[in-house]
Amino acid sequence: MAKSPEVKLAVFGRAGVGKSALVVRFLTRRFIWEYDPTLESTYRHQATIDDEVVAMEILDTAGQEDPLQKESHMRWGEGFVIVYDITDRGSFEEVGPLRGLLEEVKKPKNVPLVLVGNKADLNHARQVGTEEGERLAAEMACAFYECSACADEGGTVSEAFHELCREVRRR
Ligand code: GDP
Ligand code: MG
Repeated sequence: MAKSPEVKLAVFGRAGVGKSALVVRFLTRRFIWEYDPTLESTYRHQATIDDEVVAMEILDTAGQEDPLQKESHMRWGEGFVIVYDITDRGSFEEVGPLRGLLEEVKKPKNVPLVLVGNKADLNHARQVGTEEGERLAAEMACAFYECSACADEGGTVSEAFHELCREVRRR
């Protein structure tokens, strides 16, 4: 089999939205309750997507880096997961500015992106409606998933990462 190209993915979003939990869920299908919030790591992973082996490198950002670090992460990545927490309106409000910065850093290229509203298991504490996430994703012309890193029924977390890989490889 031909050596598969590597896709570089970076996960962005306010600290505490569940970036690390989502990445760990995707890689291990498990949920880890506590994960060092200051940790930034990259992981390698292979998956078969539409009958093709795709190798990916995933950068789990800490969400508290300075602007220069953030920009260098954005330059490194080819595809981006922007995560907010459906129980934290402030995290949703940070999505637009993050996307704006991405566009600026990647200009004039189109930025492959998926939007993820995490912690869908905490519906009782919801502050951001599903339609609001859908509307924002439509504005950004990207796919949208509501999911839960701790109760990932149906593999929505993998679906989001796989869709992002497809999006990167389409361009
Ligand atoms: P990060 O700072 O974005 O990497 O966030 P973490 O992955 O460290 O998660 C922050 C906190 O949210 C931790 O206490 C996690 O256990 C919790 N958490 C992450 N994802 C979920 C989820 O889908 N549902 C619930 N209920 N808690 C979550
Ligand atoms: Mg983290």
